[in-house]
Amino acid sequence: MARRRMRPCLVCNTLTRNASRCDTHQQQWQQQQDRVRGSAHQRGYTQAWRTTAAHAVAQHREQWGDWCPGFKVAGHPSTDLTADHIVPKAAGGTDDPANIQVLCRGCNSRKHAQST
Ligand SMILES: [Zn+2]
Ligand SMILES: [Zn+2]
Repeated sequence: MARRRMRPCLVCNTLTRNASRCDTHQQQWQQQQDRVRGSAHQRGYTQAWRTTAAHAVAQHREQWGDWCPGFKVAGHPSTDLTADHIVPKAAGGTDDPANIQVLCRGCNSRKHAQST
């Protein structure tokens, strides 16, 4: 069963033995992914941070359930919780749990919108 089924490239529809793209477009896609990863890395959002953030949200859920403590608003129920740095990485903040705050997406973007 070594023969793999040919699949059409997602971009140009040329049949390929790759998972989803022909060699040319696989390469292009890979380069694009590298760029995305690179820029995410520059902003401090590494894989390690994503793991830390997911862990922080999980811990928050365990303690508080689906509850956002609120930013400039009263605490409110929310299932859309995200972890964020209290002191931004750009300002020297770390991925230490003490520097991580869990808020819903709405409160998080409100915080970012008015961060000075
Ligand atoms: Zn292609
Ligand atoms: Zn909220």
